[in-house]
Amino acid sequence: MLGEIRGEVRFKEPLSFHTSLRIGGAADIFVVPQDVDDIRHALLFADREQLPVAVIGGGNNLLVKDRGIRGVVLRLEGCLGRAEFHGEEAVAGAGVSLSSLIREAAALNLGGIECLVGVPATIGGALAMNAGTADGNIGDFVSAVYYLHPDGTIGEFKPGNGLPYTAFHAPAGSVLVGCRLQFHRRPLAEIQKDIKQRLKTKKSTQPLALASAGCVWKNPPGELATRLIEKAGLKGKRVNGAEISAKHANFIVNRGGAMAADVLALMEMTRERVHAHFKLQLQLEMRIVGE
Ligand SMILES: Cc1cc2nc3c(=O)[nH]c(=O)nc-3n(C[C@H](O)[C@H](O)[C@H](O)COP(=O)(O)OP(=O)(O)OC[C@H]3O[C@@H](n4cnc5c(N)ncnc54)[C@H](O)[C@@H]3O)c2cc1C
Repeated sequence: MLGEIRGEVRFKEPLSFHTSLRIGGAADIFVVPQDVDDIRHALLFADREQLPVAVIGGGNNLLVKDRGIRGVVLRLEGCLGRAEFHGEEAVAGAGVSLSSLIREAAALNLGGIECLVGVPATIGGALAMNAGTADGNIGDFVSAVYYLHPDGTIGEFKPGNGLPYTAFHAPAGSVLVGCRLQFHRRPLAEIQKDIKQRLKTKKSTQPLALASAGCVWKNPPGELATRLIEKAGLKGKRVNGAEISAKHANFIVNRGGAMAADVLALMEMTRERVHAHFKLQLQLEMRIVGE
C-alpha cells in the first residue's frame, strides 16, 4: 500500500527539519502525500499494520520529543496546496499556506481575514488549532470544513444555525483536507496597509528572528500567560539551548542545539512557579507529540 503512494515516503526522517522549533527526533515512516488518494493509502496502510498516525502541517505549534514518533507521520504542507476563488469565497486545501492565501485573496481585492496575518500555518493546522489573534480566529470565516475519515471517506462540517465552528471536533484519526472560507470585498491598498501594521506589531512583540513554536500556554480567562510567567521571574530563563523568550515570556525559543527535554524542563518550571505564585494551572496551547 505504501508502494501506491505517488508522493514521498521516507524512513527515520528527523522531524527537527519539519518543526519551527527545529527540535524533534525521527519519524519511523514519514509520508509527504501528493493528493487525497495518497493520504487514503497511508491511512489504510497504518490501519492494516496497526500503526498510529500523526499529522503535521507547517510544524509551527509542535514540540516533537527527542525519541521521535512511532508509526506514520503525514506531512501536509504543500500537499493539497491549491486555493480556488469563487466570488467572495475560497476553497482551500489543507496544505495551503495561510499567509499565501491572504496575499492571493488581497490581489483579488478580497479581505476580511487580515486578523490572521503573521500566523505561520497551513490551512489544516490553522483549522485544527482554530488559529487566530485577539481580533478573530479562522473559524469565524469558515463556511465548511472537509476531513477524511480513517476509512477513506470524506466528511463535512458546516457551521451555522447557531452552531459555531468551535463546536466542530474532527473524528478521531481523521485528517483535515480543506475548507471553504468567506472573504469580503476590500481594496488591495487598504488590505496592504492593514497587513503592514499587523506585521509591524507582531515583529515588535514576538521573537520572530529565533526558532519557536508560538505561544506555549493558553491565556487563562481574563489573564495573559506572558504576564504571569514574567511576574513569576522566568523571563530569559534558560535550560541549555532553550530559553523563555526575554521578548515574549509565553514563547520558548531555541537559541541553538536545544532538545525537547530542555523545553519540557522549562515548561515544568513554568507550570510550577506560576502555580506557586498565582494558584493558577496553566493549560497547554502548543501540541506535544512523540516519545
Ligand atoms: C512565530 C510564531 C507566531 C505564532 N503566532 C500565532 C498567533 O498569533 N496565533 C495563533 O493562533 N498561533 C500562532 N502561532 C502558532 C501556529 O502558527 C498555529 O498554531 C498554526 O495554526 C499552526 O499551523 P501548522 O500548519 O504549523 O500546524 P502544526 O503545528 O503542524 O500542527 C498543529 C496541530 O494541528 C494538527 N494538524 C495539522 N494539520 C492537520 C490536518 N490537516 N489534519 C488534522 N490535524 C492537523 C497537528 O496534528 C497538530 O496537533 C505562532 C507560531 C509561531 C512559530
